[in-house]
Amino acid sequence: MVAFLATILKSRGPVIASAHDRFQPSDAHPDAQMDDAMSIPVNDLSRSFNSHRDELTAAFERVTLSGRFVLGPEHDAFQSEFADFVGVNRCIGVANGTDALELTIRVLGEGRVGTVLTAANAGGYTTTAARRAGRAVSYADIDPTHLCIDAKLVEPLLDGVAICVVTHLYGYLAPVEQIVELCHDRGVLVIEDCAQSVGAQRNGRQAGSFGDAATFSFYPTKNLGALGDAGAIVTSNDEVANNLLRLRQYGWTSKYSIGIDGGRNSRLDEFQAAVLRTRLPDVALGNMRRREIIEHYAAAAEGTGLTMLPVTGEDHASHLAVGLTTSRDEVAAAFSAAGITTDVHYPIPDHKQPAFAKEYSDVHLLVTEEMARKVITLPCFPELNAAEIEKVCDVIRTL
Ligand SMILES: *Cc1c(COP(=O)(O)O)cnc(C)c1O
Repeated sequence: MVAFLATILKSRGPVIASAHDRFQPSDAHPDAQMDDAMSIPVNDLSRSFNSHRDELTAAFERVTLSGRFVLGPEHDAFQSEFADFVGVNRCIGVANGTDALELTIRVLGEGRVGTVLTAANAGGYTTTAARRAGRAVSYADIDPTHLCIDAKLVEPLLDGVAICVVTHLYGYLAPVEQIVELCHDRGVLVIEDCAQSVGAQRNGRQAGSFGDAATFSFYPTKNLGALGDAGAIVTSNDEVANNLLRLRQYGWTSKYSIGIDGGRNSRLDEFQAAVLRTRLPDVALGNMRRREIIEHYAAAAEGTGLTMLPVTGEDHASHLAVGLTTSRDEVAAAFSAAGITTDVHYPIPDHKQPAFAKEYSDVHLLVTEEMARKVITLPCFPELNAAEIEKVCDVIRTL
């Protein structure tokens, strides 16, 4: 298997050796030629795996030869390296970001009545997780400048709330400090959903270090992506961490002894942990590269019918390049005609999702609903090359 993987990984072109070269324009990649017919995807994961293939091959070999595939040394090392990265005491590896949310809601919600309050524009993950944890979900509207919740929007809605989930959407570190202060004053706990914001920081503090706990997804497209599903929870509260360790593995308090109810199997496997360890050191550089790409788009968009959401600086992991337009279909068609793929994150707010919209027929979130009609996502990933960025900018200037 190792030789097989090595062959696949090696067959993709020359080795890119230095860390600094990793996110350079990947002209060596066969899809990245400078011709008019080139098509530009929203994301191209093969490029990042290509530029990491030596370390990935080594990681696969290490895991395969170790004979440990679940909860082994790679998992232990990743948990401690990721806790250090975020600047918290504990990290618990889990199978994906939605499980991370569900388990954290279960543990923090223990002994508390009340709803989960969150934004309705973040793809429905928190809603899915909270409902699975047996919680009703209530929604706050979002700020039109960064599309996240803030303390002022949350403040009037805290009655009957047990947990507030702050999603750092598109990579932007929401004004979480004030939300935490307000919520703690009112006896409400805070979870940060950092699935899109790994590496975002403000005043030296990382996304995930502000709330009572924080959840991460390492789905392959995220800024720290595995080669499959993976996720993690971080917290500085040992009791919370220990309960999470139990719930992620059948509720066991010791082997084969189910000490707490509500457990499940949601573990981070050794291959994914090894991949994540390989890629963690590159998060900051990748985020910087993403910010640069969005800044190019924003400059090109000046005076056009497209407004890029601002990329503020280090507090933005720039996971997605999102613009606002009142004529999304036409804008998408213009990109498509130039061979450029676009997407919408996200077209359906949570309170309008067909599965539970009727529970929310009297809920109106004006900014959330307006933004669901206006947002459009443009290509943005660290290996996008200069010619491709310029081609996207050329189309932006015509809008
Ligand atoms: C991707 C994502 C999740 C869910 O992560 P999975 O690993 O796909 O379950 C949760 N929240 C946000 C904001 C996400 O972008």
